[in-house]
Amino acid sequence: MVGTTGQSLMLEVQKQVSLQALNSFGFSSIADSYTEITEPSQLPLLIDYCQAHKLPWLLLGGGSNLVLSAHVPGVVALIKLQGVDITSLEPPYVRVRVAAGEPWHETVSWLLSQGYYGLENLALIPGAVGAAPVQNIGAYGVELKDRVTGVDVYDTLQGQFTRLSSAECQFNYRDSLFKSVEPGRYIITAVEFELFTNPDHLVLNYQALQKTCEVLAGSQVITPRHVFDAVCQLRRNKLPDPAMLGNAGSFFKNPWVSQAKYQILRQNFTDLVAYPDAGGYKLAAGWLIEACGWKGKHYEKVGVYAKQSLVLVNYGGGDREQIESLATQISDSVHAVFGIWLEPEPRYYP
Ligand code: FAD
Ligand code: NAP
Repeated sequence: MVGTTGQSLMLEVQKQVSLQALNSFGFSSIADSYTEITEPSQLPLLIDYCQAHKLPWLLLGGGSNLVLSAHVPGVVALIKLQGVDITSLEPPYVRVRVAAGEPWHETVSWLLSQGYYGLENLALIPGAVGAAPVQNIGAYGVELKDRVTGVDVYDTLQGQFTRLSSAECQFNYRDSLFKSVEPGRYIITAVEFELFTNPDHLVLNYQALQKTCEVLAGSQVITPRHVFDAVCQLRRNKLPDPAMLGNAGSFFKNPWVSQAKYQILRQNFTDLVAYPDAGGYKLAAGWLIEACGWKGKHYEKVGVYAKQSLVLVNYGGGDREQIESLATQISDSVHAVFGIWLEPEPRYYP
């Protein structure tokens, strides 16, 4: 137990704890120390404890964007902060503040059931609400940044709780202040969203989503509920369920190339999958990997998922070294063929 006498809030620190059930790859991993955060006021205690003992800390949500080593030094802190508040309701907008430990998909589902729309394209993404801003989660044409007004944090540098505006979070494609600018400085305690109270703001520019919605809606008008159901259906058909087959979703980010580079690639690869983006083109990393012959390939106890080459999987007994080696081989071969380096999306730790 950590905490001063008379302090009602304590931090219970356990030693040598298995993280196998707490990471979606299902890697066997032991944390030197482990604690659970149920109240924001435990965070200063956690940081004081780590600093006093010169220990690193790892914040953990659902463990679905992490590649853990067999041994994790320092303290792993599972963020279990709970609670959802409506902070303002002025139709056609509603603002909702969700605590970091709430599960993402269940939150999206609950908001939809309340008639608060705008997150349905992000259904079925694993993990916790508090990790969603870290890589500005995105799917089917919607990113977290499109719906966020502020992120509540504990600033470990200043030792204070504060709110960062959406602009201060520096959201970018699968990136943010929290992931690459000042990693580790902020602990996210809650996220505030601005959503819609009317069901007209549908984002249907992804072809597969549009088509599935049309089938589900039949002769009716497409609603956010159809979008939610369509996203769940598409994802269940294409992505492995981490409970059945360990994975961390897309293993690489989609690379961006200039117009000039795109033109050269297009001449050589006529079926290249690319989308105009910020003056250049975003290439589908899954297509590049598949074009290099990796689809469905096994390497030791890990491999490339047969239905989606962007997803690397653990067939059981795999580990960080195997995934890292496979990812390097894939990246090298994509570079050899296309002259493009792929950047991993999950975080290797440590
Ligand atoms: P974790 O893996 O626990 O942590 C991720 C990072 O955030 C770590 O660096 C961690 O230290 C940090 N972190 C965690 N909590 C906090 C906190 N409270 N404050 C500060 N830092 C924190 N991602 C997408 O963007 N789009 C998708 O469509 C998508 N689909 C996926 C599908 C599958 C099957 C899987 C397995 C993953 C998918 N992902 C997707 C990746 C992943 O689910 C998301 O990035 C998710 O937001 C990670 O949440 P988590 O709680 O599991 O984070
Ligand atoms: P998909 O629909 O087969 O599309 C392949 C790629 O093309 C995706 O990478 C997507 O980019 C891009 N794309 C497709 N239609 C587009 C459009 N109209 N405009 C711009 N870009 C378009 O992809 P999928 O594998 O089945 O995944 C569906 C969605 O879920 C994607 O948005 C994907 O990012 C998301 N997803 C993310 C993860 C993760 O871990 N990060 C895991 C699974 C699924 P984007 O990736 O930029 O959208």
